Parts: sequence; structure tokens; C-alpha cells
Amino acid sequence: MIFRKENTDQSKRDKLAPSLTSHFINVVQEMNFPFVGLPLQHYIPTDRRRKTVVIVGGGYTGLSAALHLSANKKMRVIVLDAGRIGGGPSGKSAGHVCVLEKGDQETLAYCGQKLGQKLVTASKEGMTLVRDLVRQYTIGCDLRDGYMTVKTDGTQIIESGGQFGIAPYPYILGLARAAQKAGVALYENTPVTGLFDNGSSHLVILERGIPIQADYIVASGGHRMMEAIPLLRPLRAKTTELRISMIASDPLPASVLQTVMIQNAITRYPFANEAIDVAYGSLTRNNVLVFGTEAHALYDPNPKAIRQALFKMFPTLEETYWKKTGQELVTRPCVSAEKINYTSSLLPLVGRMGEAGTILYAAGLGGHGIALGTLLGKAVAEKVIQLSDPSLSQRELVFDQFAAVPQHWLPASEPLRSLVAEGGLLYYKAAGAATAVKGKIQQVLSPHP
Ligand SMILES: Cc1cc2nc3c(=O)[nH]c(=O)nc-3n(C[C@H](O)[C@H](O)[C@H](O)COP(=O)(O)OP(=O)(O)OC[C@H]3O[C@@H](n4cnc5c(N)ncnc54)[C@H](O)[C@@H]3O)c2cc1C
Repeated sequence: MIFRKENTDQSKRDKLAPSLTSHFINVVQEMNFPFVGLPLQHYIPTDRRRKTVVIVGGGYTGLSAALHLSANKKMRVIVLDAGRIGGGPSGKSAGHVCVLEKGDQETLAYCGQKLGQKLVTASKEGMTLVRDLVRQYTIGCDLRDGYMTVKTDGTQIIESGGQFGIAPYPYILGLARAAQKAGVALYENTPVTGLFDNGSSHLVILERGIPIQADYIVASGGHRMMEAIPLLRPLRAKTTELRISMIASDPLPASVLQTVMIQNAITRYPFANEAIDVAYGSLTRNNVLVFGTEAHALYDPNPKAIRQALFKMFPTLEETYWKKTGQELVTRPCVSAEKINYTSSLLPLVGRMGEAGTILYAAGLGGHGIALGTLLGKAVAEKVIQLSDPSLSQRELVFDQFAAVPQHWLPASEPLRSLVAEGGLLYYKAAGAATAVKGKIQQVLSPHP
């Protein structure tokens, strides 16, 4: 995997511990498929009948925006990624397609009934959108309809009809291929280093100073983009980064899996527990157990602690496999360590900047980026199309709804930034613990039938 200068941290980690992505690649064998468009030398468009949209970042948001813009023949769409398409958090997620991280009730309380309800409805549409895109573009991403909750007493509850699972990397590649087929130019290993706002147009600067002229910018490159591009640094003040890691097992024998997760060994739904320290994962097509827990702002979560959480969730895994056979669950170090972008509200940061408001951004998707990123990519595309054509109705779009979410400022510089984020995590944990204790007390006090 090629990472440029700003990604050296990640590249060091990948060398020490082969990226989790490699497991997904085993499933699809597609990592070497490069996305390169026409030679990107000095791209100053001459055909002014078409507007140029430059999308920074090939994750869920950027690729969904590209795909939805590609249907509009008045737009020329270019996606630039500093590394590989899907090489950021998007390609390394657990593949659990779910709704807003904040929770429906909390969203209503935070944003008010009117706006909150719109966001809740839109986020559910995001899940439907993922399904629709998978179907429409026949994306082979192993979509599994359903979800498993592991209760605190270990009971495994399967739910269907709502949340579902996908293999994230093939999904990303599917979006990228569909966009490319529709005429979008995708460039990998092409970091954007600068952005200049000239009012009605923008200059995007690539490494070695290559400029591209653009009418619209979609800034969807997460925290690395905010660090690399000075004009976008103000966005850092409304977001923070949390480090999360996942471990991936060696492929496990079906006989072992069936003692551990009876139904899920066959269905391979994504799963999560109900504990305060959320633990989550999924089982890939080749019986690789992908598992993560806890997040931190100050340091990478410890793979050993992650493994312990896995055993806590599935005690029989420790007994039947680990202790009895003495066999390692993970015989090669396989950890995916990533930083993901959060806001303190746990709702995404969406908006416009620049003199003409033609730099559109969507960030801070947290741990629920598959549905949200896909949805916000579409929302950004709709907004760009509305802005480009004054004759279109100026009705409120999903983009405007998310842009109306109040966001708090966070310290922009270290170490205060990480300390505040770590404090925020403690706050959410304490709030979760308090709710759990309250629930228990109510349960004990309530009269039995
Ligand atoms: C371990 C893990 C597990 C997760 N599990 C889930 C899950 O189960 N379900 C879920 O919904 N979400 C999950 N998430 C969260 C989800 O992956 C993110 O919310 C989502 O990927 C963010 O998408 P994005 O569109 O913001 O782009 P990102 O994935 O953040 O991608 C941004 C891209 O921009 C590129 N870029 C950055 N800077 C520049 C630049 N200067 N120039 C050009 N390109 C640039 C990067 O290379 C990268 O490819 C998980 C995340 C992790 C790390």
C-alpha cells in the first residue's frame, strides 16, 4: 500500500502489522486495481459549458458524491485521493450499516423535534441508499441482511429488517467502478496540498505544485485532509480524531464458530454488545473474525485488550479454541489502527465555505460512516447541482438539514485537543453507566406481575 508523506504514521503501522484491509483483499483480490484517469498535468478546463467538481478524498462520501454527480452531464467530476481509493477508514471499517451514532431520541433532544426528525428520517434513507446502490450497480460486497446484539448475559439476539452488513472494501471499489464507468476521473496517490478560493472558482494544488481549476470543491478527506490543506484547517476546530483498532483472526474452523455464535456462524451478520464499552465486529466470508472495541484520543487501543473483550463477548471462544487447543486466534499480527473523525455532538459536520459558498464539506461521520457517508455524498451532489443552476427550486435539501446542526468548537491544537476528546469519551461512558444503573434500579423497584 502506498502512502505519501502525510501518512507516514499509518505506513509505519502497516509495515509492523499488515493492515486489516489485506483480509478483505483476500476475499476480493482487488487491491492492485489502480484508479488513474487521464494524465493530470495542468488541468485548466477550457470547455466552460461544463462545471468542474473536484472531490478531495475517495471514501464513502467522496465516491457517493462522485457517483451521484456523474449523472449530471453538465458536470465534469474528478476524485483525488492521497493514497488508495478506500485506503482510509472507509476500507477498514467493520462493515456494519447502521443509523445515526447519536441515537434517535438524543438527536431529537439535541436538535429539536423539527430538525431532529428530519435527520433521523434522512439517516434511515442512507441505509436504504446503500442497499439500492449495491443492487443498482451489482456490487458484490456480501450484503447480509440482519444484525446480532449480544446481551450482557451473553444471549445472542438476531434482528432482521433494519441494520445489515457489507464487506466495506468491495463496497468502496464497487462505488468507485460505477463512478468511473459513468465518466468520473479517479486519481490515486494524488494528495491535495493546497486550495485557493478565488470567489467564483478555485485552484486546487497538487504535489509538485500542479494546479487544477475547479468550480466546486467537495471536501471529504477526513482529518488528514484538514491537516494537509490550510484553507480547510478551520474544520479541525469543530471535529476531533479518535483512534480505533480492530483485530482480524486467522480464518476459523466452522466447527469452532458454531459453538461460539450459533446462528451468526452461518448468517455472518455484523454484531455488537450492549455493554458501555461497545465491542463490535463481523465475520467475513472466509470465516475471519474481525473485531474491535474501545476508542482513545491519546493512544492506539491495545490489541491484547481488544482480544480480551472478544473473549468476554464470546466466552466459549476462549474455552473451546484458545485454552483447549493452545492455538492462537491470530497467528500473524493483524491490526488495523485508524483515526476517525468525530464531532462532539456525534452528528456529522456539514456545510459550505469560500466566498461563493462553493466549497462543500462533510466530515465527522464517526463510527457510522457507511450509511451516513453514502447519504451525505448524495446530499452534497444534490447541493452542488442546485447551486449550479439558479432555475432549480431552492427547496431545502438533506444537505441543508445536516448543515443546520449546531456544532461546538473544540481545541484546535494539541495536547488540549486530545485531552478534551479523551474527556468526552469518559463523559459518554459515565453517562452510559448512569443510564444502565438507573435501568437496573427501575427493574428491581418495579412491581413484578
Ligand atoms: C476500524 C474501524 C471500524 C469502523 N466500523 C464501522 C462500521 O462498522 N460501520 C460504519 O458505518 N462505520 C464504521 N467506521 C467508520 C467509517 O469507516 C468512517 O466514518 C468513514 O469511513 C468515513 O468516511 P469518509 O467518507 O469521511 O472518508 P474516509 O474513509 O475518511 O476517507 C478519506 C479519504 O481522503 C483521502 N485524503 C485525505 N487527505 C487528502 C488529501 N490532502 N488529498 C487527497 N486525498 C486525501 C484519504 O486518503 C482517504 O482515502 C469504522 C472505522 C474504523 C476505522
